[in-house]
Amino acid sequence: MSTYYRAAWVFPLNAPPINEGWVEVDNGVVTRVGSESTAPPEFQIAQQQLEVQDLGNVALLPGLVNPHTHLEFSELSTPVGDPSLDFDAWIAEVVKYRREKAAQGAEWLEETITLGASESSEIGVLGIGEITTSQSLLACYSKLKTRIVSLLEVINFSAEQVSAVTAGVQNYLAQAATSGVNAGVSPHAPYTVHWEQLKSLCELSRDFEVPCVMHLAETAEECALVQTRSGPLREMLERLGMWEESGIPLESSFQQYIETLASSWRALIVHGNYLKHDDWDLLGRLNSNVSVCYCPRTHHYFQHPTYALEEMLAAGVRVCLGTDSRASNPDLNLLAEVEFVRNEYPDLNPSTLLELVTVNAAFALGLESTHGFIGTNAVASVLSVSLTQEEAEASESACLSAVVTRLSEAQLVRL
Ligand SMILES: [Zn+2]
Repeated sequence: MSTYYRAAWVFPLNAPPINEGWVEVDNGVVTRVGSESTAPPEFQIAQQQLEVQDLGNVALLPGLVNPHTHLEFSELSTPVGDPSLDFDAWIAEVVKYRREKAAQGAEWLEETITLGASESSEIGVLGIGEITTSQSLLACYSKLKTRIVSLLEVINFSAEQVSAVTAGVQNYLAQAATSGVNAGVSPHAPYTVHWEQLKSLCELSRDFEVPCVMHLAETAEECALVQTRSGPLREMLERLGMWEESGIPLESSFQQYIETLASSWRALIVHGNYLKHDDWDLLGRLNSNVSVCYCPRTHHYFQHPTYALEEMLAAGVRVCLGTDSRASNPDLNLLAEVEFVRNEYPDLNPSTLLELVTVNAAFALGLESTHGFIGTNAVASVLSVSLTQEEAEASESACLSAVVTRLSEAQLVRL
């Protein structure tokens, strides 16, 4: 049976704002939305019988989606190492932490993942793009309230291992499908994934129609590796005995990586801190299946040059915002990322800002039919922000501007 709700404002974000809006919900799923003036007879009957739940002077927004995190670091109270470390030294710290924790067994991993998922759902995150490093977590993921898209991390710089590794990933995707867990693939980064391995994972993404997520253009060290096949990351690979000449294409560029990722069913490039004009133009042209995830506070933590968010959006790049993990961020509060961006880019349109953590983030993970908007088939959990009488009566843009300044007060309401 349907239930009806009324609110002063509904911001579906994939459609124009609705003043004096109603939402019809059936069994935890939104079936219809509209304005009171165009309400169907069922809504009017419900209203006459006082069965419409009036939420009053509130603005409703979709629940959030965090497209990029590594929940295995959720137990950390402060980031790993410190930002003054060279990138390869920071990676070594992360690897050390992971190794120590892995020794504590599978139970610890499930606990820390559950902790991170709870932290996320408390602030209204309904979907998470999770980088998965263990294949034993499907049962854990399926128990969480937040929808997890488990992106299996692949680290393999050896041409010889490509087919065996791909077969393992394929097996995981099949297992995830039977467990009812959304999954995908995550070739880690150019310095850990052989070029042939990347191509093979993009193919798998296409075959299984699952997202493919890769860290790209994150650091100056990675630029040196991709653009000149040299620098500290190559030295690190050589030191570890992992370097292979064929691991990075001879005339390599970020554009080549972007074009290859675009051959996936859906690609998400994480960071993109060092991409340039030509790359943004290319990403703009590929926005029907390629997105970029900006992790604002992680970017700030490592003191990278200013992020070209506005230029990228102007070029048509489909950008979303993620937290990355507690290894480089003090918490997993996606609303704090929104707040950070609002302060750094005050001219950004509030609606565009919100799309980065809803519509665009859901699309990046392939969740766009159920998450990131308020409309038919969406999960019926929404964010509610209280409005003053004056705000409720203001124009849609004035109302939304007020809403984004008070997002931290938003309550998650399960309709
Ligand atoms: Zn990451």
